[in-house]
Amino acid sequence: MSHDTKLIDLFDRLARVAGNDRTAQGLNPVQWEALRFFARANRFSRNPSGLRQYLGVTKGTVSQSIIVLEKKGLLKKVPDSRDRRGVEVRLTAAGRKLLVDDPLNRWREDLAVLSAAQRKSLEATLEHLLRAALQHRERQPFGFCRDCVHFARDEASGAPHFCALLEVPLSDEDSQLICREQAPG
Ligand code: SF4
Repeated sequence: MSHDTKLIDLFDRLARVAGNDRTAQGLNPVQWEALRFFARANRFSRNPSGLRQYLGVTKGTVSQSIIVLEKKGLLKKVPDSRDRRGVEVRLTAAGRKLLVDDPLNRWREDLAVLSAAQRKSLEATLEHLLRAALQHRERQPFGFCRDCVHFARDEASGAPHFCALLEVPLSDEDSQLICREQAPG
């Protein structure tokens, strides 16, 4: 078996193990991913089309998932302050509470056996692979705001930071969220 074949096999098996962990509390994997997305996405991305881009699924799948999560009281839609025809999707207190029991948290135990250096190296490798995979499939990276080429730290006109693309002030909290417009710096 070549090294590449072995690596691909390992990815496949890890993805399957993660997939098996992704159903709990009566939610399917897409519904869990939607909850995680709306908890981590910034105000420019927290909407149905942002979720569709992030997951690479159909509009129908996104609408159905949001409807189910709204009915369960885990998400709520509010008018988008920047676009009168748009909506922003936010987690409710119940949604945030449920995320504390995210089934993917089981991975924390497994990662705890790695040293800090191993974790850092693994993170860099996986991030690199993910970006390459998304680029080949012409999908957005949705990286962290603080790592974006448009992110200006501690700007005089910011709060305290600034987005040079959208020309809006950014808080420290904004800097830690993911964005559909993110371009790696
Ligand atoms: S700096 Fe980049 S990631 Fe942050 S809001 Fe602007 S475009 Fe999005």
